Amino acid sequence: MKIICVGRNYRDHVAELNNPVPDNPVLFLKPDSSILKNNEPFFIPDFTNSIHHEVELVLRVCKVGKNIQKQFAHRYYDQIGIGIDFTARDLQQQLKQKGLPWEICKAFDGSAPIGSFFAVSSFHDVHDISFSLLKNGETVQQGNSSQMIFTFDDLIVYISRFFTLKMGDLIFTGTPAGVGPVAINDRLQAFIGSELALDMKVK
Ligand code: ZN
Repeated sequence: MKIICVGRNYRDHVAELNNPVPDNPVLFLKPDSSILKNNEPFFIPDFTNSIHHEVELVLRVCKVGKNIQKQFAHRYYDQIGIGIDFTARDLQQQLKQKGLPWEICKAFDGSAPIGSFFAVSSFHDVHDISFSLLKNGETVQQGNSSQMIFTFDDLIVYISRFFTLKMGDLIFTGTPAGVGPVAINDRLQAFIGSELALDMKVK
C-alpha cells in the first residue's frame, strides 16, 4: 500500500506558512514504514529540532482506479479517518530553499500515525466534517472539510492521473491552520466531530 499526501489544501494553513495558493493539489508520498497504528507513541527522531503536527482527514481507498472521472470519484473511498502528518519543519525549510524533494522531512519512520476510521455512510455530509487536534488537552488545530481548496473527489481525480489507486491506499487530505511543534511527553488527541479517533504520546 502507499500513502498519498496533499499539501496546501486549506487557505488558512497556506497563509500561515507564506505559501502561494496552488493551482493543482500539491502531492507527496509516504512509505508504509511511516505508519503508526493503535495509538503507538511517536519517537522524535535525532535529525531534527522541529517536528510539527499537521492533523488531517484521511481517506481509505476501497478499489483499484486510474484516471477516475469526477462523477465516479466518491466510489473509490469507503472510510474516513484521521491522521497526523508529522513534518520535520526545519529540514523542510532547508529542502524548500534548495528546491529538493521532501521525503526526508515528511516520509520518515513514524511520520504518519492514523487513528480510527469510520464508514463514509456514517457521515451526514462528507463536505462538512469537522475535526480537531488537542495537545495536552488544549485545542491547537480545528478544521472542516468544507474549507478544503480541493474536495475529496477533486483529489481522487487528480491523484489517479499520476498514481493507480489500490485498495488500502491512504490519502492524507491536507491540514488546516495551527500547525506547531511537539515535544517529548506531549499527548496528542485527534477528534472527528466529537469522536476521539486518535490518542497518542510523543516520546
Ligand atoms: Zn500535511
